[in-house]
Amino acid sequence: MDYIRIKGLTVYAHHGALVKERAEGQEFVISAKMGTSIAKAAKDDDLEKTIDYGKVCEMIAEFMTKNRFNLIETCAERLADHLLRMNEGLSEITLEIHKPSAPISRPFEDVSVCITRKKHVSYIGLGSNMGDRKEYLYGAVEALNTYPDIEVKKISTFIETKPYGNEDQDDFLNGAIEVETMLSPMELLEVCQKIENEAGRERKEHWGPRTLDLDILIYDNQIIETERLVVPHPDMMNRDFVLRPMTEIAPGFVHPVTGKTMGRMMVELHEKESTRPSKWWKR
Ligand code: ATP
Ligand code: MG
Ligand code: MG
Repeated sequence: MDYIRIKGLTVYAHHGALVKERAEGQEFVISAKMGTSIAKAAKDDDLEKTIDYGKVCEMIAEFMTKNRFNLIETCAERLADHLLRMNEGLSEITLEIHKPSAPISRPFEDVSVCITRKKHVSYIGLGSNMGDRKEYLYGAVEALNTYPDIEVKKISTFIETKPYGNEDQDDFLNGAIEVETMLSPMELLEVCQKIENEAGRERKEHWGPRTLDLDILIYDNQIIETERLVVPHPDMMNRDFVLRPMTEIAPGFVHPVTGKTMGRMMVELHEKESTRPSKWWKR
């Protein structure tokens, strides 16, 4: 991760728990450490490919002056969320909001709140075994990437695989992607299902043929078990067509339930499959 820092941005605003503070206002001094990747911008010497710190300063000033919070804790939390949403290449931010004129009756130098917030990282499994499979998978990647609050960071190779569970159907093309997002797991699932529906996905039979399947494999280190969403995907450790692309894009990622890396899980699956009849091993 690379960082761009802004230090000591001073804004006059009206946050505070006291009536006087909200009425009269005071100075707030903001520092930001922004985690991003500067490689592309540095290579091409292009402002469009990096975080424009001038614009970020304007965003901070506008946010600070347009809102009023009792606590600088709340102000920092909301400002971090706002900046992560508004800046595509921004993966993480450490924000410090200083209040040097805070109403403290003793002599003091400064008081501040400092927080670090990150975009969520999710891995999504892609599959198709109807029509132009490659087109469906690339179309899904494109649709996810153009969706606000989702950014595709890595795309695996798409691999040809045998059908899983229900073998009487055409071969699949499978892959996995890494995305950064500000969406909740449930919101991300809804986007995935909308994109599946737009690709003409029909659910006639379980594990049946499909134009497009988008499964949330991983969402940060979260373990979710609701009726509509189970994360990590409960069957991923048994699926070579999931673990192979995951091993390509996130070999060292540790599965929050098994405690094993993707690479390790794939090796163990292959060891298990090598003891099964040959039709399983071929998958
Ligand atoms: P599998 O999930 O075993 O690969 P599938 O992908 O064919 O099967 P779908 O028909 O795409 O299954 O989805 C069935 C339901 O699974 C969806 O309605 C969704 O609510 C639920 N679901 C639960 N967990 C997840 C997840 N992690 N990702 C996507 N859908 C999920
Ligand atoms: Mg699936
Ligand atoms: Mg699915």
